[in-house]
Amino acid sequence: MTIHPNGKHSIAIGKNPERSREHNRRVVLDIVRQHEMLGRAHIAKLTQLTPQAVANIVDELVGEGLMMELGRRRSGRGQPPIQFAVNPDGGFTIGVEIAADHIVTVALDLSGRLRESRVVALRDPTPDHVLSIFASELAAVRTSIGSKLLGIGVVMPGPFEIEGMTSVGPTTLPGWGGRDAAQVLGDACGHAVIVENDATAAAVAERLFGAGLSISNFCMVYFGVGLGLGIIQDGAPYRGAFGNAGEIGHVTVVPKGKKCPSCGQLGCLEGYVSTYALKEELAGAGITEMEFADLEQLHAQNHPVIVEWVEDAATYLGPMVAMLENILDPQTLIFGGALPDAIIDDVLAHLAPLPTSVASRRQRDLPRVMRGKTGQLTAALGAAALPLFDMVTPKLELSLQTPAAAPA
Ligand SMILES: [Zn+2]
Repeated sequence: MTIHPNGKHSIAIGKNPERSREHNRRVVLDIVRQHEMLGRAHIAKLTQLTPQAVANIVDELVGEGLMMELGRRRSGRGQPPIQFAVNPDGGFTIGVEIAADHIVTVALDLSGRLRESRVVALRDPTPDHVLSIFASELAAVRTSIGSKLLGIGVVMPGPFEIEGMTSVGPTTLPGWGGRDAAQVLGDACGHAVIVENDATAAAVAERLFGAGLSISNFCMVYFGVGLGLGIIQDGAPYRGAFGNAGEIGHVTVVPKGKKCPSCGQLGCLEGYVSTYALKEELAGAGITEMEFADLEQLHAQNHPVIVEWVEDAATYLGPMVAMLENILDPQTLIFGGALPDAIIDDVLAHLAPLPTSVASRRQRDLPRVMRGKTGQLTAALGAAALPLFDMVTPKLELSLQTPAAAPA
């Protein structure tokens, strides 16, 4: 998987003169990444940095192994300019999704290409067990890739630090309440770790590698074990004050409905619309131990439990889609996560006709709802992208609330 050069990307402008060297390095890396390869003069033109500043930064990045020289390319008259590209072997980042029932680990190289992916089932979600699997999966990936590790992102199901919602249900991880997850995970692997909520990371993954590539305002409805929402606003994730924005799984959709095992309220959306809810329905029909491929197969066979669940899910999701449109006015809603593509497509098909909302325009560039492209790896890819784009993307850097770069 690679990041496609994309003309519709908002182009970050460099600061000139060199007020912030760190910022300018990111601008240069990002512009080169988007275009796959560029010459110095072209970089200067696109970033509005001086040719001298660009020459210095390019030399520096090449010297550090983050960029590489590709030789000259013909482009009209005169001596063709030397082309530069991001060096895929300049380093890699690891993304880990810790879900309630499985752990996904991926590695991305500096160009954003997927270099490794591993999925292991999680039979025991208590912290000690999770930490030991986390450490051994990381060690395995680091050994297999071999180049420089630039950062680790981890996604876990939210919500974080809510009283009365401290990770007791089947869609959350038990025993993590009150713990500083980033600290504990960092200690387990001996490297700094960025922790993010799974739906937000999934939205970042779709924004950078998937269906959201040229969409700067969208919502990502994310099927983890529960149900979450990632929000991309003006190209960057919107997190809310405490990182819990988009917790749609615990919005009441059935007053006096069934008790939510995670938060104790009645009639939460994820009690009806989630991978967990689907597996619970299947268990009620005597079908247990469902893996991803089994769900795919049952769906292909039109199993009545799946057929009924899809219809119910669409019934509850339709008004939610319209509500999100009315509140956030996104360009589209992207659905994805830990369900087979065919089941997500089926849910989307059953959403029609969607309730009227501010999105009910005759002229639309995008459908109101669409399926994501990054599949089961979505959240882990987003996790790996967090440190990567902390490094190379000036736009996302701001939203990640990293300390402002010091003047050079
Ligand atoms: Zn709930």
